[in-house]
Amino acid sequence: MTPGVDEQAAAELASALQAAARIVVFTGAGVSTDCGIPDFRSPTGIWQDNKPISFQEFMASEEMRREAWRRKFAIQPSFEAAERDGVKKSPAHSAIRTLYETGRVSAVITQNIDNLHQASGIPADDVVELHGNGSYAACLDCGTRHELPFIRERFDDAGGPPPCTACGGTLKTATISFGQSMPQEEMLRAQAETLACDLFLALGSSLVVHPAATLPALAAQNGARLAIVNREETPLDGHAEIVVRGDIGVAFRPWLSARAR
Ligand code: NAD
Ligand code: ZN
Repeated sequence: MTPGVDEQAAAELASALQAAARIVVFTGAGVSTDCGIPDFRSPTGIWQDNKPISFQEFMASEEMRREAWRRKFAIQPSFEAAERDGVKKSPAHSAIRTLYETGRVSAVITQNIDNLHQASGIPADDVVELHGNGSYAACLDCGTRHELPFIRERFDDAGGPPPCTACGGTLKTATISFGQSMPQEEMLRAQAETLACDLFLALGSSLVVHPAATLPALAAQNGARLAIVNREETPLDGHAEIVVRGDIGVAFRPWLSARAR
C-alpha cells in the first residue's frame, strides 16, 4: 500500500527509475517543505504574506534594498535550521540522494536557493542552481562573495546593508530575483543535461516559473520519458508519461522498497 498517492502511478515511477540509464532530477520548493521551508504557492506558502521584491524594485530604491535584507534576515533562521537538522529528516532529499548514489543521475537541476541538495550529500558540482543560492551574498558590480553574518552585523549597526568591501558596489543575496537575468552557464548546463537524459524527473515544482519550467517540456520533446511528482496539478502534466499526484517522499516508496528487497 502507498497511502496518499496513486499506487499505479508510483509503481510506474519505480519501474521508470529502474529502467533509466541517465536521469535528470529537477526540483522546486516542494522538495524542501518537509525541511521547514515554505514554498511560494501553497496555501501556507511565503506569498500569502509577502509578494517577492523584483530585481527592478531592488535596484530602484535604498528602502527596497533594506526591506529585502530585513526579510532575508527574518527567514534566515529557518534556512539555517533546515540545513542543520531539517534536511536529515527530509524523505525527498534522502530519496534523491539514494537515486544519485546509483550513479545514473547526471545532474540535480534546482530552482531552490536553499543549499539543501548539497547539505544532503549531493556534490556541489552536480547541483545546477538556476536561481542561485541564498546562503551567501555577492556584489552586483564585481561579483565578490560576502558572508551573511558579516552583512548582518553591519545591517544591525547601520540600519542597512554595507557596500561591497572590494568595490563599494551593491550587495545582494546570490539569488536570481524575478526580473533578473538567468545565470548563463547554469542555463546552458541545464539544457545540455536535459537533452542528454532518457528520464527527466520533475519533483515538487508548480512548473509555472519560466524559463526553468521550459526544461521538462524540452526533455519530453526530445524523446526522454517525463515523470512529474507534485501535490497539485501542473501545466505540464499533459506532456508527462507519468504523473504522481502527492507527496514526494511517499511517491518514492515503491522504488525504495524494491531496492531494499
Ligand atoms: P512553488 O511554490 O511554485 O511550487 C511548489 C509545489 O510543490 C506546489 O505545487 C506544491 O503543491 C508542491 N509541494 C509542496 N510540498 C510538497 C511535497 N512534500 N510533495 C509534493 N509536492 C509538494 O515552487 P517552485 O515551482 O519551486 O517555484 C517557486 C520559485 O520560488 C522558484 O523559483 C524558487 O527559486 C523559489 N523558492 C525557493 C524555495 C527554496 O529554496 N526552498 C522556497 C520557496 C520559493
Ligand atoms: Zn564589488
